[in-house]
Order: sequence, then C-alpha cells, then structure tokens
Amino acid sequence: MTEPARNRRIVLAERPRGRATLSSFRLEQVPIPALRDGELLLRTLWLSLDPYMRGRMSDAPSYAAPVGIGEVMTGGTVARVERSLNAGYPAGDLVVAHSGWQEFAVSDGSGLVKLPPDVVRPSYALGVLGMPGFTAYIGLLDIGKPQAGETVVVAAATGAVGSVVGQIAKIKGCRVVGIAGSTEKCDWAVRELGFDACVDHSSAAFGRSLADACTKGAAGGGAAGRGIDVYFENVGGKVFQTVVPLLNPFARIPVCGLISAYNEPKQPADGEFAAALMRAVLVKRLTLRGFIFSDAYGQRRDEFLTALGGWVREGRIKYREDVVRGLENAPDAFLGLLEGRNFGKLVVDVGGAGT
Ligand code: NDP
Repeated sequence: MTEPARNRRIVLAERPRGRATLSSFRLEQVPIPALRDGELLLRTLWLSLDPYMRGRMSDAPSYAAPVGIGEVMTGGTVARVERSLNAGYPAGDLVVAHSGWQEFAVSDGSGLVKLPPDVVRPSYALGVLGMPGFTAYIGLLDIGKPQAGETVVVAAATGAVGSVVGQIAKIKGCRVVGIAGSTEKCDWAVRELGFDACVDHSSAAFGRSLADACTKGAAGGGAAGRGIDVYFENVGGKVFQTVVPLLNPFARIPVCGLISAYNEPKQPADGEFAAALMRAVLVKRLTLRGFIFSDAYGQRRDEFLTALGGWVREGRIKYREDVVRGLENAPDAFLGLLEGRNFGKLVVDVGGAGT
C-alpha cells in the first residue's frame, strides 16, 4: 500500500450538551509528521468503538482524563508499522495500540503490544481477546464468582462484554439469562451462544418475562431458590430496577457499566429506588462491586489470553463482530452503539480488509 501524504482523523469538535450528535465530531486532514529517531508510523487497520468513549467526551470528573476539544478521539486500534526508526518495531509488525480515531499515528513504541505475524483475526484483539473479553473474564470470575447450578443474568447480552460473560458462565455450569434490546438479539443469544433464555428489555412485558425466565426455568437457584445469583451489570436504569427484586440472598453484582445513562443529559433522581436498593443490599446481604478492567489488565492478561484463547479455539466461545467500513463512518456508528444499533462488538475497518 502506498502511504498518502496526509492523515485523516476525527477530533472532538465540541462537548455534547445533552446527547452526543454528529456535530460533536469533526473529520480533518493533516500532514503526516516526519519520523524522529526511535519513532515509528502506524497505519490503522481496525478501530475499536466502545461505550467508555462517551465518558471521555465529557469533562465531568471520572477515572480517566477527557479528550480535549480539537484532540483526536481516543480509541484502541490494531495497526501495522508502516515505517520505522525504532529497532523494536520493524515495518510490517502488527500491534495493538491506543492510537485513536485516525488513519495514521506516530508512536515512540510505548504502550504497543505486538500481535503474532500469523494472528488469525487481528480485530479480535480489540474484542473477545482484548479489553472487552478481559473485562468479562475478571468481572464475572473475580466478583461474580459463579458456581455451577446458579443463575447468572447478564445485560447487553449480545455485545462485546455481555456475550463473553454469558458464555463463560455456561462453561462454569450456570444457568444463563441474557437481557438484550430486540427479539433478533435474544434469539441469537439462545440459538448461537447457548444461553438458557434471553429477555427483550424493550418489550412491554419485560418485567414479567425476566421474572419468568429467572424462576420458572430454574432447576435450583440460590438460597431463596430460583432467583438471580449473579447479575452482571452493563446498563443500569430500568433494567437494574427490574433485576433488584429478583436477586437471591448473597447475590453478587459486578458493576461493569451503566450505558443507559452515558448519553443522558440529566440523571433522574430516584430516592425511592436508592432506598429500596440499600434495603436489598442489607437484607439480602448483596455484594455490589464496581471495577475497571485496567485495575488488573497488566497482571492478568496472559492468564486471560490462555483461558479465552483456548475457549475460542475450541469453539466454546463464539463471537460476533459488527463491522463498519471507513473511518468517516465512525461517529455515526458510535452514536448507534449508545442506542443499541450495534449487534456484536463494534469495530471500524479503517484499512484492515484482508487481515
Ligand atoms: P456493547 O457491545 O454491549 O454495546 C452496547 C450495548 O448496550 C448496545 O448494543 C445495547 O444493547 C446496550 N444499550 C445501549 N443503551 C441501552 C439502554 N438505554 N438500556 C439498555 N441497554 C442499552 O458494549 P460493550 O460490551 O463494549 O460494553 C458493555 C458495558 O460494559 C458498557 O456499559 C461499558 O461501558 C462497560 N465496560 C466496562 C468496562 C470496565 O472496565 N468496567 C470495560 C468495557 C466495557 P441492547 O440493544 O441489547 O440493549
């Protein structure tokens, strides 16, 4: 591939007031800077789009710094070393980088993770064998502690994290109930992923259907019999409120994400629910624990890759990607992620076709 003289990149044009829109982003073209000694030029093949990016568009206090106005939107990528003045990364190497929403990036090599030259699906390093897969793995196993025969419920069940959570829970011998945003997604979770049931949160019968799925079909259940023993929280809001009354005593709740709130200008103040939740935490002796994947990624990555890599190779974990073609389509695809338009791990094919 010949290298164009200019880099196309997407920057944060303005902080959204309320919901993010296309005008929050700007596509621009800038010259590719010359390399200095020790640097290398990365060509983006695959860009990962993830819910946390909505948080980076805001300057509200968080666990990570926001993207500045006019700065390239943050994001994980799989990239090829195009040119190199760094002996550690010769041209042609494939790496996982954090080079953002752009076609090219100059790096000094720090933070890059090499992929084997014969890697079968490089984009998997952004999903099932990358940050979202790791998130599912540690959140479920370390905090959820699923035991064979227990009922595990997972929200955003067909997405990058949720689909892996549910399948690991099946491997651990649990009964798995997914929650997803359409009949099509739910059918896929049961048919392809092997979940025992999946309930559509957009249906008017959501509450009753979830209660039925968690009780009627359960063989044993937890101490109260036939409720939820592990709820893997990805969405919050109405879904969480529906789940709480179904939790068994001593249920564990890994709090991974609250996507239903990310794009909302104002959070509803619901003191009544907060009080009911705290009562449930006390009376049912619940464990709720938030976690961020980076707390453990450095230390546990190899263990995770051995486990997940094995399950993927054996076909015990299936994985679906939602591929959008072209960097220019990233903003619209990202806004869709916040509304459930994606079906599977959302990745942008920036120049990865054929890898
Ligand atoms: P997904 O691939 O699951 O995509 C997001 C999905 O969220 C949508 O497809 C949609 O699924 C669901 N969703 C969106 N809006 C709503 C809503 N209002 N109510 C209910 N569901 C909604 O994303 P990921 O798997 O990448 O991420 C899942 C969660 O995990 C997110 O909350 C994310 O922030 C969190 N996360 C946390 C990490 C950590 O370190 N703690 C690391 C990685 C992710 P549907 O149509 O089925 O409703």
